[in-house]
Amino acid sequence: MRLESVIKKVVSLLYSQCPACVQNIAISFYGLVIYLQRYGKTYRHYLKLYSSRDYSCYKKTRQIQNREFIRLLHYAVRYSEFYREFYKEIDLSKIKSVDDIERLPILTKEIFKDNLNKIYTIPSMKGIKLHTGGTTGTPIKVMIRRRDLQKRMAYLDAFKQEYGFLVNKRRCARFTGKNIILNAPHNHVYWRNNYISKQRYYSTYHLTNTNMKYYVKNLNVFRPEAIDGFVSAIYRIAKYINDNHITLEFTPRAVFTTSETVLPIHREMIEKVFGCPLRDQYASNDGAPFIKQCRCGVYHENIDTGVFEHIKTSRGVKLIVTSFYSYGTPLIRYDIGDYILESENMVCPCEACHPIIAAIDGRTTDFLRTKTRGDISQVALSMLIAELPDCFEQLQLIQESSQAIHVKVVMKEASCIEEYHSLLNEKLSSYLGKDMEFTLEKVSCIEREKSGKFRMIINRMEELK
Ligand SMILES: [Zn+2]
Repeated sequence: MRLESVIKKVVSLLYSQCPACVQNIAISFYGLVIYLQRYGKTYRHYLKLYSSRDYSCYKKTRQIQNREFIRLLHYAVRYSEFYREFYKEIDLSKIKSVDDIERLPILTKEIFKDNLNKIYTIPSMKGIKLHTGGTTGTPIKVMIRRRDLQKRMAYLDAFKQEYGFLVNKRRCARFTGKNIILNAPHNHVYWRNNYISKQRYYSTYHLTNTNMKYYVKNLNVFRPEAIDGFVSAIYRIAKYINDNHITLEFTPRAVFTTSETVLPIHREMIEKVFGCPLRDQYASNDGAPFIKQCRCGVYHENIDTGVFEHIKTSRGVKLIVTSFYSYGTPLIRYDIGDYILESENMVCPCEACHPIIAAIDGRTTDFLRTKTRGDISQVALSMLIAELPDCFEQLQLIQESSQAIHVKVVMKEASCIEEYHSLLNEKLSSYLGKDMEFTLEKVSCIEREKSGKFRMIINRMEELK
């Protein structure tokens, strides 16, 4: 076992033995380390720049994109052993702007993982390591330069500032995949504090029907000005508040979500319950460029943070990214494994020139393959879920074979699945085809992935490929 993992195990063991107040101090101390890494001089400089940047002029924004792209390309070839080799047959002098990007080969996830050590442009002592689950579930260590990390944070925080929320200065309730409560607490305290950044981390692993009341009660005491994290967790809280007619004693400025697909039912419920807008953003830990929702709730590809290419496949439109914050581990024409839905609408009332997409449509394996209805993504499946009565809390569809789908169902405490058996079967058949077989299983909760994310669709057949 490597020294790093031994240290991690020891720290995690010590942490689990401490009382909550000591854990709060430990989390705040860790918060301080993160704070110093992310919020320095570069951060402050770029926060100012990004908050005042004018995105209305396409020509100007495109100039920024071309400049950044050429800079990253030449940097990668100069400092990364892998890229020198990867592009050795290519005449780079012919690549003058983003329009020429197709002269470069696509970087698949396999090539990326196999060559990671040669891709890095900086020694590990100089970079900040970010561990990502990647979209394949295989952990990947990405090296990022401190200045790039600070620029990324500034871009993200400038977006939050648009809603009047100041990161580190205002109270924020966070529902991310952080495993902060290692044992089941006897006192129902499912949260820990990072005093440095005024954040309260709520465990997403203990969100069961019985525990929900403690979360809501505590939110009413904490009164956060923003809520951020995984939409599946925030949605469950919102639904509980709505179903139980609980009055909230605070109105956040916004709910910021990331990492999971936001479905129309999520948005509707969360905005209704919290009385504020939900704004989603996409930029995975791999260091992908940003896709953010603007004031109008429309998804824009932020072309000043990278290049977005759309490749049509049978599953849908695949996203290929180039990220301008990836100097430590350059990502150029990277097949990140995510899909999007293109938009017919090209203009947004917000007047930003950044291209519009309709939605982020999940990962490579986030679809069900049916015999007569083709491939069904999460966004398509959300229509089915929207038609189900309120007693359905959560659904997970697992495709085991070409004709069999196992459905895990979380229902409200008093509800009985037998009562709704035929209704659910009927809906599943109508959306996924009569020739598919469904097995239903009532469960008390659905396990999250190691990263804390919730997956509505698991395609075991694709995972085995
Ligand atoms: Zn817009």
